[in-house]
Amino acid sequence: MSLGTRDHATIWHPFTQMLTAGEAIPIVRGSGAHLYREDGSVLLDAVSSWWVTVHGHSHPHIADAIGKQAHVLEQVIFAGFTHPQAVQLAERLLTKLPSDMARVFFSDNGSTAVEVGLKMAWQYWQMKGEERNRIIALDHAYHGDTFGAMSVSGRSIFTKAFEPLLFEVDFVRSPGEVSLEEVLADLEKIEARGDVAAMIVEPLVQGAGGMLMYPPEVLEAMMAWCRERGILVIFDEVMTGFYRTGKLFAALHLDAQPDIMCLSKGLTGGFLPLSITTCTQEIFDAFLSEDRSRMLFHGHSFTANPLGCAAANASLDLFEQQETQDRVAQVVAIQAEGRAMLAEHPQITNLRQQGTILAMDIVTGGGTGYLNNVGKEIGKWFLERGVLMRPLGNVLYVMPPYTIEPEELRKVHRMIPEALAAVTQ
Ligand code: PMP
Repeated sequence: MSLGTRDHATIWHPFTQMLTAGEAIPIVRGSGAHLYREDGSVLLDAVSSWWVTVHGHSHPHIADAIGKQAHVLEQVIFAGFTHPQAVQLAERLLTKLPSDMARVFFSDNGSTAVEVGLKMAWQYWQMKGEERNRIIALDHAYHGDTFGAMSVSGRSIFTKAFEPLLFEVDFVRSPGEVSLEEVLADLEKIEARGDVAAMIVEPLVQGAGGMLMYPPEVLEAMMAWCRERGILVIFDEVMTGFYRTGKLFAALHLDAQPDIMCLSKGLTGGFLPLSITTCTQEIFDAFLSEDRSRMLFHGHSFTANPLGCAAANASLDLFEQQETQDRVAQVVAIQAEGRAMLAEHPQITNLRQQGTILAMDIVTGGGTGYLNNVGKEIGKWFLERGVLMRPLGNVLYVMPPYTIEPEELRKVHRMIPEALAAVTQ
């Protein structure tokens, strides 16, 4: 029996209608921006395997670091114990993050990084003895699939089945869709209704909600509004982190600083599940007490797993090299070329770029939203031609590993009009 058939008989895949989905495609090897199928044919990974792969697949420097670490210390309980890779990673990240970030808390994935951020912000106000019990989030936000992360995500088909179980959140319209004045007007309405603990945003790019982009000045203005009212600001940089927006963190495009940041995906170079929630000294200090019942009650079996931390340190080694910086700059420049090339296309609207991410809406009769079939059809068209693309409904985006060759990225751009001609007739 083939791998695909054995898989189909045993495995339940994420975000997949198992009745109608065909067999999953077995991938047996990865290298650079390429994934290799069983028969040796190659797929160009234009979406960084769900936005995680930054230095390319199976990068030898990270692979070696994980291998070495596995022979030394594979795992240790992180309550009451620590290890060199975690300490080194914390120290290195804190020198690179916005200067207000003072502490790192480890967990396993983007959703849990968000859970931790929400719990920190929520409990912070209890520690301060202030009653603040509302959270602001953006329409079309996507912060993950656990219940807290779903609660602060825009209400959509992703959250629909669970709605009665989600906590109440005050949503404002997305700055990727409406003007700053309209967003501020929504914020004003919320404030009139209660005490707000925190606002959570995906800075500059709202990813899974449709690659909605908005400029740093707009976010600065939203943050200034929060600051005036003492509202904490949480940046979910799970997707935007690690140079996706052209800088190491989206936060570095701004003068204003968040109070809490969530990182994952590219943190380990996309090799292992690991995440980090960082916070200011002020938040950390608020939890200090002689009373043990006032600690942050959160932790996972694999908190700060040494293999994940070793991968993350190795990934930082690569980011510190000039060659990586040059590659990021090259991807940014070629994506800009692609944007210019596609600018006048009649079936494309809202063509937009933030750093290494290029996105566009496809004009189609099927309506907007994740279930618009045009995305599936475009994905299939590209797959048949050796390119892995995964549009979000009618939103098409290109988010490659930084090791993609310039010509390969240009080829993806050139294929987009062909795909549209073939699929949207
Ligand atoms: N936040 C953002 C901005 C994301 O894009 C994602 C995942 N796409 C998550 C959180 C959740 O991360 P994970 O899938 O690792 O739980």
